[in-house]
Amino acid sequence: KKMAENDPLEYITGCSDFSGLKLLITKDVLIPRSETEILVEKIIQEISLNKELKGKTFLDIGTGSGAIGLSVKKAFPDLQVILTDQSEKALKVARKNAQSNKLDVIFFLGELLEPLPIGERVDFLASNPPYISKKAYQSLEKSVKKEPFQALVGGETGLEVYERLEKECRSYLKKQAKCFFEIGFDQKKSLLNLFSEPFWKKKEIYNDWSGHPRFFFLEIE
Ligand code: SAM
Ligand code: GLN
Repeated sequence: KKMAENDPLEYITGCSDFSGLKLLITKDVLIPRSETEILVEKIIQEISLNKELKGKTFLDIGTGSGAIGLSVKKAFPDLQVILTDQSEKALKVARKNAQSNKLDVIFFLGELLEPLPIGERVDFLASNPPYISKKAYQSLEKSVKKEPFQALVGGETGLEVYERLEKECRSYLKKQAKCFFEIGFDQKKSLLNLFSEPFWKKKEIYNDWSGHPRFFFLEIE
């Protein structure tokens, strides 16, 4: 009956399997997508290139259920993992997921990087921010519209969170830091333009299983 009312299955069962984790899912968080599992797999490959992870830090901005950050912590217990979200309710769900999966991570509530302590710099930054435009939101399926608006819509153009991240994250990155983003299927060109300054030394775009450019990886000097 609930599905006939367009409630997504995960909101009915209250859980989802993601990258080998069992996650509690409530209406306060985005339901983790299978594309994001590809993102996690690619992040794990990149981080595996490092021999020593003790003392290195990974930040997941807009963590929602904790899907990305908790999967990375599970793969690399030595890595210090920080999860942030502007939604207190989402962060509560992420906290429960950390506990139930026995993962020791740090939480900060607030806008993008604002809640981080002054002077904090990270080695790895990941985010699957809201990236849908207000216009595209109108034509989403009813079941997707049951998910939190602020988890889906990145302003008028869908690019607003990226515009802020491009500027704001710079002073929070260590030398040779790597950034891993999930992006909208039609945003490749805009994002290559947005991150065009020499500060962003290396840039790679990877496709999802449907052949859409979906993951944007960057590295700095
Ligand atoms: N990382 C999860 C995943 O991949 O399943 C959730 C991603 S969801 C697309 C985006 C998340 O970013 C939401 O949890 C939302 O609350 C959060 N968010 C949106 N705008 C934000 C902002 N300005 N600062 C911090 N978090 C934000
Ligand atoms: N991939 C989600 C969707 O298509 C959007 C998630 C996001 O905005 N980051 O509904």
